[in-house]
Amino acid sequence: MDVPADPRASWALPPPGTMDPVVDLEPLVTRVLAPNPSSMTLDGTNTYVVGAPGSGQAVLVDPGPDDPAHLAAVERVLAGRDARCVAVLVTHHHGDHAEAALPWGERFGAQVAAASAVVAGPRGRVLEAGDRLGLAGTTIGVVPTPGHTGDHLAFRVESGAVLVGDHVLGRGTSVVTHPEGDVVAYLESLRRVLDLGPSALYCGHGPELTENPAAVLEYYLAHRAYREHQLLAGLANGPRTVAELVAAIYAEVPRALWPAATQSTRATLAKLHAEGRVEWWGTDEDDPDRVRLA
Ligand SMILES: [Zn+2]
Repeated sequence: MDVPADPRASWALPPPGTMDPVVDLEPLVTRVLAPNPSSMTLDGTNTYVVGAPGSGQAVLVDPGPDDPAHLAAVERVLAGRDARCVAVLVTHHHGDHAEAALPWGERFGAQVAAASAVVAGPRGRVLEAGDRLGLAGTTIGVVPTPGHTGDHLAFRVESGAVLVGDHVLGRGTSVVTHPEGDVVAYLESLRRVLDLGPSALYCGHGPELTENPAAVLEYYLAHRAYREHQLLAGLANGPRTVAELVAAIYAEVPRALWPAATQSTRATLAKLHAEGRVEWWGTDEDDPDRVRLA
């Protein structure tokens, strides 16, 4: 199996660390970059301000870290749109997306909505698959995208663009967390977004993907299949520990990313185990360390 080629390699995307902090992506959507860059968050978390121009209202998607400079930047965008925040939507429970949801919801007097009741808070709204939210002069579709986490949602705006959170990143690939994440669900979620025929992917981290969103989703599917192939090939000559598999498969990847790579590897092994293709022994079944072909 050949290494899948990332179609973005030939796109004119901004190099890491050079993203504009505030960009009007389309009349409905402005992106505000939070000041929390890291190896896992890339340039930082992208907060999206969504609303029909002239509606006087806007929705925040993934407020991100509860950071005063980030709040000030978001408030400047709201003022520039002459809009007040009427709802805070959250793609998933990770702190780099959800931390500011409750405090900012309180500050703006806006309801928080998410798939997780914990994220939505006591006065929030728990979102369900297929919900269509009439907010800020537009309609936002709720698209379940479990995989990265169990509670992950994407949001489709009327232009056809999809705000994908950490389901798809502007650069590189995403992590299927373990034990919460689920590779089978993740693959189904990629196909679900692909079936929507998105006009653009607005990612939780990294640049917006507008040139050929379907090609990126297909690359993500191929990348997952390739990781499975690598794991099975890595076990062809006998049992391995998870650490040995990660060291072999992610040799080219900075070590700072190996803990995340280990989670994705465990999640993929859980899928292969459920399919009867690998087995483990000698340790906790839910958190295997030694693996062999079944
Ligand atoms: Zn994130």
